[in-house]
Amino acid sequence: MRGLTIDLEDWFQVYNFSRIIKQEDWGKQRERVIRNTDRLLDVLDEYDTKATFFVLGWIAEKYPFLVNEIATRGHEIGCHGYSHKPVFLMSKEEFEHDLERSVKAIKKACGARPKGYRAPSFSITKKTLWALDVLKENGFEYDSSMMPTDKHPDYGIKGIPRKPFMIKGIKEIPLTTVHGLPVGGGYFRAYPYILTRYLMKKDKNSIFYIHPWEFDPKIPRYNLPLLKRFRHYVGLKKTRKKFRKLLRDFRFDKLDNIIKKDFS
Ligand SMILES: [Zn+2]
Repeated sequence: MRGLTIDLEDWFQVYNFSRIIKQEDWGKQRERVIRNTDRLLDVLDEYDTKATFFVLGWIAEKYPFLVNEIATRGHEIGCHGYSHKPVFLMSKEEFEHDLERSVKAIKKACGARPKGYRAPSFSITKKTLWALDVLKENGFEYDSSMMPTDKHPDYGIKGIPRKPFMIKGIKEIPLTTVHGLPVGGGYFRAYPYILTRYLMKKDKNSIFYIHPWEFDPKIPRYNLPLLKRFRHYVGLKKTRKKFRKLLRDFRFDKLDNIIKKDFS
C-alpha cells in the first residue's frame, strides 16, 4: 500500500524562506494554511482517503482547532518539529527542546501524543542519526525523514533500504525516489502528471508527500534566487487537478496503518 503524507505548515515556513522571514515574524505573515487545509481535507474525503499529517508545533499552538479537525476526520497526526529548523542545524539539546515543545502543542490540540516524526527538509542524514535516539527516548515509534537521493543540495541519504526498516529501535519509513527522483512536493508540481504516474507505478509501496500551500497559486510572491524561486512557485495552479488524478489512480493510506502491515 502506498503512503500519503502531508507536512502541515504555512507557505512562509519552508527552508527557502528561512533567511527572508524570521520565526519571530511568522505571526505577521498572511495566513493561508487554514483554508488550504480545509480544501485539502475535502478532496481527501471525496476520494475516501486517509493521510498522515506531520504537524508543525507552531501551527498546532496557533490553530489547535485545525489539528483537531484533521484528527476528527480520521487522519493520523504526526510531528514535524516546532521551529522548522533542519536537524543538521541544531545541537542535540536544541533538537530535544524543539521536539518536546511541538509534542506538547500537538497533544494539547488533538488529545493524543504523535508516534511518527518527519524532520523539516528531510534533514535526517548520515550526520544526524543521533536524532533517532532522541525520538526513541521521547516515545516515538517511527520516523519518515530519510530521502534516498544525492540529487538535492540540502538533503538526502544514500545507500539506505528503499523499504521500511528498523534503525536504532525506530521504524524508518523512507521517502520514495525512483532513479534518484523524489515523487512529491516540488517534483510533483514540476513533473507532468504522466511522469509522476510512471514513477509511482514503479514502486507499489511509494510514500508521497505534499504541503497545503502547494495547492495555492495565491501565496505571496518573493524574489528568491532563480532555482529556489522555481522550486517554490512552479506548477501551483495545476496541483489540485494533478492531485485528484493521483488519488483516482492510486490507493493510499496513513502511515500508522502501513507500519502495522510492514512490521507485523
Ligand atoms: Zn516542512
